[in-house]
Amino acid sequence: MRLLDSILEYNEQFVETKEYEKYQTTKLPDKRMVIVTCMDTRLIELLPKAMNVKNGDVKIIKVAGGIVAHPFGSVMRSILVAVYELNANEVCIIGHHDCGMSNINSDGLLNKIKDRGVTQERIDTLTYSGLNLKKWFEGFTSVEESVRHSVELIDNHPLLPADVPVHGLVIDPKTGKLDVVVKGY
Ligand SMILES: [Zn+2]
Repeated sequence: MRLLDSILEYNEQFVETKEYEKYQTTKLPDKRMVIVTCMDTRLIELLPKAMNVKNGDVKIIKVAGGIVAHPFGSVMRSILVAVYELNANEVCIIGHHDCGMSNINSDGLLNKIKDRGVTQERIDTLTYSGLNLKKWFEGFTSVEESVRHSVELIDNHPLLPADVPVHGLVIDPKTGKLDVVVKGY
């Protein structure tokens, strides 16, 4: 059975047996925090457990590397919506050790794109139109530095209220241990 089909088959039973009942909550976060973290598979359950966060407690925005790359991109927009529309009043950036975005090789990634059938011509067209793909795919060398950079970008954002603290942490994907990089209070 293909993956989506097996997911849908499971889902039918999930709903039928009312498995959802134990997850019912509201869209407003009880702990009033919005977290930006990485899409890493090891953090799916570990991160909330390690922080004592359960369904309904916080907003979690997931993006490769937990990086807030642009002051007017979709991650920053999500943070502002969480603050102004959904009652969050603290922001927390959480990077992690052994991240797929650390030391990413942009050239290697672009080669993989070409190997999968995207033509050099198409890449050139994007480059000529002003997009720096190499930079776009660039990750980070130090997770602490990356977290600090995202914290600063959010903290200095012209649309973020001054009384919203922005924290920066690094989590160990093996043990769940949190280390503080920036305490926003
Ligand atoms: Zn990661």
